[in-house]
Amino acid sequence: MQVERHDTAAEAIRLRFGDDPLDTLRQRLARVNDRIAAACRRVGRDPADVRLLPITKTVPAEILRLAHQAGMSAFGENKVQEAVAKHAVLSDLPVSWSVVGHLQTNKARFLSGFASEFHALDSLRLADLLDRFFGAAGRTLDIYVQVNTSGEQSKYGLPPADLLPFLDGLARFRSLRPRGLMTLAVLHPDLARVRPCFALLRSLRDRARAHHPGIAELSMGMSGDFEAAIEEGADVVRVGRSLFGERPTPAGHYWPGEPVELGPLQ
Ligand SMILES: *Cc1c(COP(=O)(O)O)cnc(C)c1O
Repeated sequence: MQVERHDTAAEAIRLRFGDDPLDTLRQRLARVNDRIAAACRRVGRDPADVRLLPITKTVPAEILRLAHQAGMSAFGENKVQEAVAKHAVLSDLPVSWSVVGHLQTNKARFLSGFASEFHALDSLRLADLLDRFFGAAGRTLDIYVQVNTSGEQSKYGLPPADLLPFLDGLARFRSLRPRGLMTLAVLHPDLARVRPCFALLRSLRDRARAHHPGIAELSMGMSGDFEAAIEEGADVVRVGRSLFGERPTPAGHYWPGEPVELGPLQ
């Protein structure tokens, strides 16, 4: 049995990363960086101003070790237990860890042990908890406030109208560093439907920045839409599948309620 299970895991890795995972990761990273640079060129931006945050949920720790070797120095995880376990195994690697996506309040305590960024804050109760745990640990946490730019009921994030009062409320937390705004655009293969979400986040950022200078960056764009996001002003793109291949888990596992049809990868 032991042998069989081992073979199955090895086979799953081979299917997702090929016979030479390090080479696969290097090639995919180069391709994503090329696409980022091309998107920047189209709108006269400097590629150095766009940060690639590799999203590593479901990617085994041994592959993350190779990802670091391939040139990735930050990992974004969506599930806290998974992130804690991988961080423990990879604590010798000089990489930074981000938590992206909705976080339950009962998981807040775990972040101060490993995370340097959180992309999805949308509640002051959660902010208060994170502030306490990071304060107690003598650490700070960079924050991207999640806004629901698609109007879909299923999406987490603040309604746009609530953003400014929320940022006022956030200002009192000493261990939280607001850096910008984050959104999950509508998941649709037609980018004409997706772009308005990005444009809305940008205009909200422009307005918010007048009162809250820390709100400078836009965390938006994933494998299916990161080039459009860059054209609309993204400073951080959160890319999983284009770097690590298709996940074995359905997307609905990560975006509850979403009738997800993710487009094919380029
Ligand atoms: C999984 C995930 C991503 C990356 O999505 P891909 O389609 O794999 O690029 C980005 N942001 C969040 C919040 C995620 O959970």
